[in-house]
Amino acid sequence: MTNLTAPRAFHVMSKPTGAICNLDCEYCFFLSKDELYPGSGFRMDAEVHEAYVSQLLAAQRGVEEVVVAFQGGEPTMMGLDFFRRTLELEVRYAAPGQRVLNTVQTNATLLDDEWAEFFHEHGFLVGVSIDGPREMHDAYRVDKGGKPTFDRVVRGLEVLTRHEVDWNALTTVNAANGDHGREVYRFLRDDLGASFVQLIPIVERVTPELLELAESGWGDRPGQRPLYRQEGNLVTHRSVGAEQYGRFLVDVFEEWARHDVGDVFVSMFDTALAHWMGMDQAGMCVHARTCGDAVALEHNGDLYSCDHYVEPGYLLGNIAEGRTLLQLVDSPQQRAFGSAKLETLPAYCRGCDVRFACNGGCPKDRFLDTPDGERGLHYLCAGYQTFFHHVDEPMRVMAGLLRQGRDATALRDWYARADANRDAEEACTCGSRIPWGACHGD
Ligand code: SF4
Ligand code: SF4
Repeated sequence: MTNLTAPRAFHVMSKPTGAICNLDCEYCFFLSKDELYPGSGFRMDAEVHEAYVSQLLAAQRGVEEVVVAFQGGEPTMMGLDFFRRTLELEVRYAAPGQRVLNTVQTNATLLDDEWAEFFHEHGFLVGVSIDGPREMHDAYRVDKGGKPTFDRVVRGLEVLTRHEVDWNALTTVNAANGDHGREVYRFLRDDLGASFVQLIPIVERVTPELLELAESGWGDRPGQRPLYRQEGNLVTHRSVGAEQYGRFLVDVFEEWARHDVGDVFVSMFDTALAHWMGMDQAGMCVHARTCGDAVALEHNGDLYSCDHYVEPGYLLGNIAEGRTLLQLVDSPQQRAFGSAKLETLPAYCRGCDVRFACNGGCPKDRFLDTPDGERGLHYLCAGYQTFFHHVDEPMRVMAGLLRQGRDATALRDWYARADANRDAEEACTCGSRIPWGACHGD
């Protein structure tokens, strides 16, 4: 096949149970996607399963490691045999020397020793969704009966830890934990032992017509959610505020930079560093220049432009019905989706001094007007500005260290030197207006 414009490595987020999950997190945009498939059993069948694994491995020849990713809904509801078959398919279809990393994003509530042994034995990387200490986690992460889930998640994590499974934390930043960056981070690092942390802002965008239902937690019964679309310019009370998000990131950064550079990996900080190093497509897609390299695969083989655009207008095709994964990723429709992110950037962003790091954020949340009245400014712009301006100097230091072939962990010494003569009563470096000694100097 010639003239393919698809990226050599692209990411597929597969959803073997579609939107079906055993929990009912209030802010989950994905639960309503069952509306797209009325009457479906929501289980990836053998044909689609084989098409997914075989086509992904075939498409990514020449890539050092292929990531086979399962997300949801809740993928562990497929049962272990589904994942055992995944391994068989990988053995059958991998090219000689081709390495495969399997990843699963889970709420961890269904995990037991058998799951953890399996994950450990086969080197799975397990992402666990947890939003911080009990009261913050339980604010929105509830089960179908509205009951808290913290204890069940922590039990699942304990099983993973006992079996030495590689795991990372996926933590949403929302209205309930948004003022507690350091507390959340310390909980993940110290209480749970997390060394990889992904922070995802909750921006629950809704239309005026849907606001009331959304604010009520989408009604009393599961299944009452209308299909979630990226529409409207209002947000629910569960959404993080723009400034709040920026302060949250700064709060975590000030802790991380002093103590954990090189030991704990926070995807937002790694992404920022990559941008300060001049790599504008590296790290989190939301801050890449263009989109299009991360598609979402539904249980029935339908492929969508992105996990956040599982909507009829963004359906690329079905991988079990003629066109392959690579052909769909390479389609003009998907290439146009990818470049639209850059092409629709408002003039205000194009002139922004931190645009190289921000790139205007994810198009799904670009629903504000710029100060000069152009539509398309990201909802979190104020927070992005706060964060990217705050980290400019330490990012330059780290980038400089790396360019000299030195270790970025020397940033800790840079902070230690600056902190040595700091007065406990002076305002903290994070901008909180709390005395240094009672804030990041404690
Ligand atoms: S639309 Fe948003 S989430 Fe999807 S690939 Fe683009 S930046 Fe990422
Ligand atoms: S910080 Fe704001 S103005 Fe700057 S690129 Fe990002 S969204 Fe645009």
